[in-house]
Amino acid sequence: MNEGTLPEKYLGVPLISGKVTKAALTPLIDKIRTRASGWAGKMLSFQGRVVLARHVLNSIHVHNMAIYKWPKAVVKECETIIRNFIWSGNPAERKAITVSWEKSCKPTEEGGLGIRRLKDINLSMLMKQAWILLTEEGDWPEFMRGKYINRTGGWSNYKTSTVWTGIKWALNEMAPLHGWNVGNGEAINIWRENWLLQKPICDFFQEERKEILKYQARLSECIQGDRWAFSIEMTQVLHHLGIDISKLPQPDSSKEDSRVWMASTTGKFIVVAAHEAIRTKAPQPAWSEFIWSSKVLPRTQGIVWKLAHGVARTNNQLQKRKTHLASRCCLCRNQEETLDHVLFHCPFAKRVWKYAQQIFHIQREMESFSDVR
Ligand SMILES: [Zn+2]
Repeated sequence: MNEGTLPEKYLGVPLISGKVTKAALTPLIDKIRTRASGWAGKMLSFQGRVVLARHVLNSIHVHNMAIYKWPKAVVKECETIIRNFIWSGNPAERKAITVSWEKSCKPTEEGGLGIRRLKDINLSMLMKQAWILLTEEGDWPEFMRGKYINRTGGWSNYKTSTVWTGIKWALNEMAPLHGWNVGNGEAINIWRENWLLQKPICDFFQEERKEILKYQARLSECIQGDRWAFSIEMTQVLHHLGIDISKLPQPDSSKEDSRVWMASTTGKFIVVAAHEAIRTKAPQPAWSEFIWSSKVLPRTQGIVWKLAHGVARTNNQLQKRKTHLASRCCLCRNQEETLDHVLFHCPFAKRVWKYAQQIFHIQREMESFSDVR
């Protein structure tokens, strides 16, 4: 009989044993770097590089991200590669004057470049695994539930594995994003499931929380037929939480309880909706609508986007970065060269605006980017 060997990869993902380390993911980082170096970045416009980064770079690691929680150092290094590629065309070359990565990683309507943060991609994809674990039948979810649910019905804190670290992270982060459609109440632990509010009842009693988590009571104990039948003690708890029992939707004992993903309208889990729920949002600037219009040339889009964020090699920006030079506008030779001066306040800029206002019949005075809408 020959000794077998385990496969090294599954679905293109290297199988890792033990903790997911930066070393284990280095081949992947190298792949992203090689891919980005291979594109003639310098020959492309800023906008062209953004499109490449958005579609291709973000898809290389997707399989791997669906399984492992990436260490912070790996996320940081990959984002640096993508960021450098977008700004300089070379993954190894850092540009001094750029828009912050946080601002760049917003949808275009929110003033960003439509690039997603790797941490958010990672988390939303792991949430899918966690959702399968919570809701589905089958070998994998049943095996995982058997292994990681402890004696009191909670998730194990002590067992570790390469995969569990990521799923546990996702389970914690998605707790406020799902709830229950109450049926017969048999699947729901009254205290540790969020069947009532956005978080479980035990979380409202911080001091007693540890003790409460030992209770095994099921919600079915509070249901008779298709009506609620709360005990006096439970009624007091609900009253304490400000719940009006008469307004609770009635349970339906003919059905089993089902989990609902609250971040989507259908109640079903969708990775895109999960991503949307976890990412940080930004207000919508007035200029975002027209910059990305199909009427604007791609090359111009990139330039205007940078200007809208105040990014230009004006003298005052260079001074901030300790380049010694006198900041004087080269057109009027009167004022300091700032972006607002060059684009709006300089007498030369004012003449250009006046000319444009006459042609396009615009009444509004242009004093800054917030007036452009
Ligand atoms: Zn000037």
